[in-house]
Amino acid sequence: MDIRNCNEEEMKEIAKEFGEKEFRGKQMFEWIHGKQIQDLDEMTNLSAEFRRRLKEKYRISGMEVLEKQISSKKDTIKYLFSLPDGNVIESVWMKYRHGNSVCISSQVGCRMGCTFCASTLTGLTRNLTAGEMLSQVYEIQRDTGERVSNVIVMGIGEPLDNYDNLIKFIKLLSSEKGIRISQRNITVSTCGLVEKIRELMKERLQITLAISLHAPNDEIRRETMPVARKYSIDEIFEVCREYFEMTGRRITFEYSMIRGINDKKEHAKELAERCRGLNCHINLIPLNEVKERNCLRSADSDIERFKIILEKNRINVTIRREMGSDIDAACGQLRKKFLNPAGKNQRRSDCEYIFDNRYGTRTK
Ligand code: SAH
Repeated sequence: MDIRNCNEEEMKEIAKEFGEKEFRGKQMFEWIHGKQIQDLDEMTNLSAEFRRRLKEKYRISGMEVLEKQISSKKDTIKYLFSLPDGNVIESVWMKYRHGNSVCISSQVGCRMGCTFCASTLTGLTRNLTAGEMLSQVYEIQRDTGERVSNVIVMGIGEPLDNYDNLIKFIKLLSSEKGIRISQRNITVSTCGLVEKIRELMKERLQITLAISLHAPNDEIRRETMPVARKYSIDEIFEVCREYFEMTGRRITFEYSMIRGINDKKEHAKELAERCRGLNCHINLIPLNEVKERNCLRSADSDIERFKIILEKNRINVTIRREMGSDIDAACGQLRKKFLNPAGKNQRRSDCEYIFDNRYGTRTK
């Protein structure tokens, strides 16, 4: 069993299970999450006998770097990791002036079926454990030798579709005795699972919530995001207002700009109208074109025009700086290439079906 997946309470229980004093669990936590050790034998203040017995049942699973792509500016590194069960995920390290960010995956694959995204092409294989989400941060911090200050859950997968593991992960990541990433420096991005957002706000975490909006109305949103058939934009804005009231945290909206679909003047005006009175920030993302998908990136001039309209309406807006576009850094691209090197279209036709099984209306 992967002991990286355990919190302090669970480690205290493990210590007791082995007939040790409870404080041994606290010491284990300091080694495993505070120092991010890779081998249980590094816990030198525990007896060799206890470590030997512990190793019969527990281990630190970690993950292996299968491939590493470094951008020409050396400010972005994309990691392809292999998990002990042979599954493959990807994570990205980005160096900014204000610190280093790691973008992690929350699932192996995704079942949300967004039409512009590479991560969902082969459907969902399984959820990642809290330990596997942490391992991405620990391994990258070790590999780069530089402290990670920000974590964004914006890689492969839908984090709120893996809710319990996500919450455990955030608590471990921000623990005072762990790697100590402040909750204010953690962002969770969701396609907008409204009930889960409502649950999340009750946890009273200080994280930033980012919502993948990508459209100013339901009609356009439903063209690219199957989840929009389950939850309307009105419901999303309503829950965002509640979220802000409850947590005091400003909402981020992500808006990937797709040529001819969501990038017109009237779309910017409609979006501005919706955001009126809500403390939010809009991040315009020039679409990363994915070979298997038909969506095209908006022209730079259209993105700029969109931004200006929002600014005129006094909406906070930025255009996402592009990093690592010379290294398959778009969501799921590297993993996709690994799974399907010939580039043949392997889209699982039941992808939306899997999604709809749980989230309502069938789209096919
Ligand atoms: N499932 C979560 C997090 C993963 S995707 C979510 O939907 O938010 C991270 C962000 O990248 C989302 O906003 C997603 O819509 C966007 N994205 C996915 N593929 C993209 C692409 N090819 N170009 C631009 N943005 C993309």
